[in-house]
Order: sequence, then structure tokens, then C-alpha cells
Amino acid sequence: MESFEDLGLSEDVLKTLKRKGYEEPTPIQVKTIPVILAGKKDVVGQAQTGTGKTAAFGLPIIELLQENVKHVQALVLTPTRELAIQVAEEVNSLKGKKRLSVVPIYGGQSIDMQLRSLKKGVDVVVGTPGRIIDHLNRRTLKLGAISYLVLDEADEMLNMGFIDEVKEIMESANPEKRTMLFSATMPTEIMRIAEKYMRAYEVLGVQKGALTVSQTDQIYFEVSLSDKFEALCRIIDMEAAFYGLVFCRTKIDAETVANHLIDRGYDADALHGDLSQSQREKILNKFKKRQINILVATDVAARGIDVHDLTHVINFALPQDPESYVHRIGRTGRAGKEGTAITFVTPEEYRKLQYIRKSAKTDIRRETLPKVKDVIRIKKQRIKSDLEEIMSSGLQDNYLEMSRELLSGNFPDEMLAALLQYAFHEELDEKSYTEIEDVKTVDTTGKTRLFVAKGKKDGLTPRKLVDFIKDKCNIREEKIKGVQVLEKFSFVALPFQEAEVLLNHFKKNKKGRWPLITRAKEGRKK
Ligand code: AMP
Repeated sequence: MESFEDLGLSEDVLKTLKRKGYEEPTPIQVKTIPVILAGKKDVVGQAQTGTGKTAAFGLPIIELLQENVKHVQALVLTPTRELAIQVAEEVNSLKGKKRLSVVPIYGGQSIDMQLRSLKKGVDVVVGTPGRIIDHLNRRTLKLGAISYLVLDEADEMLNMGFIDEVKEIMESANPEKRTMLFSATMPTEIMRIAEKYMRAYEVLGVQKGALTVSQTDQIYFEVSLSDKFEALCRIIDMEAAFYGLVFCRTKIDAETVANHLIDRGYDADALHGDLSQSQREKILNKFKKRQINILVATDVAARGIDVHDLTHVINFALPQDPESYVHRIGRTGRAGKEGTAITFVTPEEYRKLQYIRKSAKTDIRRETLPKVKDVIRIKKQRIKSDLEEIMSSGLQDNYLEMSRELLSGNFPDEMLAALLQYAFHEELDEKSYTEIEDVKTVDTTGKTRLFVAKGKKDGLTPRKLVDFIKDKCNIREEKIKGVQVLEKFSFVALPFQEAEVLLNHFKKNKKGRWPLITRAKEGRKK
């Protein structure tokens, strides 16, 4: 397994990565970082969002850029403003002590503000194609001296109709620049761009192994980031004998979650890459002996631990890619034993979950989080059945004696209530739980009816519409229902998942333009 140290990064960057809690490079980082650092070839990287691709180009570019340069040194093109902001933030957070200024430039933000920051001097511009062209036309941004050009999510830029802008930008930039193109898919149009506008390049992809998922019951809950911890507590409390692994993305998260669990009275500990071998073994032993029943871990730290019979694997954070999802949940439901894999998904992560689900060819069921009163009800049932079990396996004389003493002169129901209150006061108190806010729920079963802002007058026909949708979301024709092409607009109904893909896709359109496809309003139904 390669480490960040093996990739040729500087001490300063390594320190930053440590501070950020990244334990080891993701597969796309292992592939691209050394090639970019070597300083020769251009790069075509096949990687989805969420695989760490921003750091895959961000880290080596930071290493290669010079300080105190008076012109823009690198341009990153992204299809959407959200991504532009996200990429700028990630690159900023990776730059460490290096004095570089990274600025997102996108449509919708005040141009004056952008002009001010461009005037002050910027090293890395992260922007959407339309706004970058605006600045090029106004001559407020010059790309004649850039050293690096990154196309992020190139296929999305193609899908969103930005390809001419992208070509124009590539042509107007310094011919000596190095180009890095990242794309989840590699349609021929993208490869054509690489051929035409890039210099000698290396294609770097992440090998997809065959993914097989065990018989684990897989569930996901939609929950906001701030409610994840409360959700975790409820799930643990619902179980009579929870014995599970909780996966976090970084070691800092793993520490935090474990500490919160301990504070709340659970037997938990954290396992991450910063521990010494002996600390690691000590914690693993405690877990194996069930002195602790919750182990909060990062993927790296959990690798190679041979603990069986887990009742649960919990993805507190979504894994980086489908492979690690399969790997994580493979730890439960082993050897014919039933296990449950639970994944927490924030609404923002929903698309990534769909991608994991599709790639891992696995069924992940959506459920709603247990309500506090459900958790308490289950706990009460458990107390009842535990008491019955104690009674049936024989009571000890000294307790019987004490019981008789307690009952003399008291009503038995009152005395029993007092005893329960004494023993379970905290456990059965609704106030030990906090409220969980409902996040936007989505119906994953039915079909979603979509409104298409084009009709007969635009030359649209049912055939053209079906072909367009087949092309956009890779769906079989028989799944496309309710096609209606009217004069000015059209309707179509798609299975939930594909509809989400389309809606997400068209949501991120150029400013000021009504998206081509939106969710059909009830009133529009014919
Ligand atoms: P990206 O694919 O660039 O959108 O990255 C997805 C997420 O993974 C971001 O939140 C990054 O901060 C995070 N990330 C990137 N590289 C690593 C790494 N080596 N270890 C842990 N997290 C990472």
C-alpha cells in the first residue's frame, strides 16, 4: 500500500495532509500525483467525484507552483459553481504554508468582487467556463502565461453544453501549459479534445475489480450532518447486543465520534492510523473480547482486522468509492451470519450513494430513523424479556429475601415502579435523546414525472425525446414511460434514480436560463 510519503510530496504538504486527517492516498491520487510531479506528460484521469480527485491534481500543482509570481499560474475549469467553490476550498486547504492565492470565479457572483481579487493577483483560478470567457473577453483575466490547466468533470461540461467554451479557453491559454483532464466517463468527444488540445498524455484510471456484496442487509438513512451522532446512538440503542464497526472518513472524525460515544456512556474506542502497534493491538483485543462493543475506525485502520460476527457495520460517512463500500460491509454477514450495514447519507451525498449503489450492483434500502419513543419502547421490551429470562433461569435466595422485605407494607406495583425508576431512570428517559430534524425525503419506489421545456415547435418528437433520455442516463427504453410531446413542452416519467440523475444534471445550468428538465408540477399533469 502506498503512502503519501512514497509519492514524492514535500514535508510541508505531508504535514498539511496529516493535519487534515488524510491517512493515505486514494487510488487516483497514487496514480496521478507522481506523474504530474514528474513534470513531463499531460494527464487524462478517469475518476468520479468523491474519489479524491481534487487533491489528485491539487497537491502536485501546489508543489509545482511558484510563490510571488505576478500572473495567474493555474486554471481549473469546473462545470458548476458549487464544484468551483468546493475545489477552491479544497485546494486552499491543501496549500499549507505556501503563499498562493486560490480564487473561485463563477457566474452569479458579483463581477466587481471578482475583478478586485483578480487585480490583486491570483495564482490559481477555479472557474466555470462561461464566466471565465467573460473575463477573457474583458481582458480582466489572462491565460497566456499559465502553467497548468485542469478540466474537472470534463464529461459534465460536455453534457451541459460548455464544450465550445472549453475549447475556446484551451486555445487561448499558453500553448506551453500542461493540461490535466478528469472525467468520470470517457466519451469519444472527450478523447477527441484530449487528442486535439493536449500534448503527449497518459491515461490514468482506477481499476475496477469485480464487486461482490455479501448477503448483508443494507439500509440507508437520510440524516443531516449534525444529526448523524444522535442517529448513531439510536441505532445502537435499538439493538440488544450491538457489536459493530463505525466507519469515519478521517482519523479526526473517528476520534471525535468515539469520544462522544464514551461521554454518552457507551463502550467504544477509536482505531486509526496514528496509533502505535501496541495501542492498536490493545484496542483490537478489547474489541475481540467484547470489553468494548463499538469500534470507530477509518478504512485504513480497519484493514486487515479479523473480527467476525459483527452485528453491524455503520458508514457514519460514505466511503470514497464503491469498492470500499463493498469492502466495509463485507465485514458483517460473514459465514452465513446475518448482519446489517447501515449508511448515513446527507441530502448532498445522495447522488454519491446512487452511484455506489449502481456500481456495486447492490440493493440499499431506505428506512426512516427510529423515533425516540420507538427506541424507548424497544428498550422496555428488552428489559421485560431479560427479567423473564432471569426468572426462568432461577432466582437467587438473597434477592428473594430482599424482595419480600420491600413488598411488605407496600403496593407491589408501586414498589416495582420505584425499582424500575431506580435502575433504569436514565436509560428510559426520553430527554437523553435529542431531536433529529427531518431531512428532505425522497420516494425511491415510484416514477418521477418530468417537465421538459421543449415541444413540437422546437422540432421535438417522442422518438427524439426517448433517444435523448436513453443517451443521458443510460436507461432501457421500456423504463421510459408517459412520453407526451406537446406544442411548447413535453412530459416523461422515469424511475426515481434516473430522474434524479437528469434533474441534478439540468439543475446546474447556466445562470438565467430555465433548466431544460424540471420536476413536473401536479397541476401540469394531463
Ligand atoms: P473529491 O473526489 O476531490 O471530491 O474528494 C472527496 C472527498 O474526499 C473530499 O471531501 C476530500 O476532502 C476527501 N479526500 C480526498 N483525499 C483524501 C484522502 N487521501 N483521505 C481522506 N479523504 C480524502
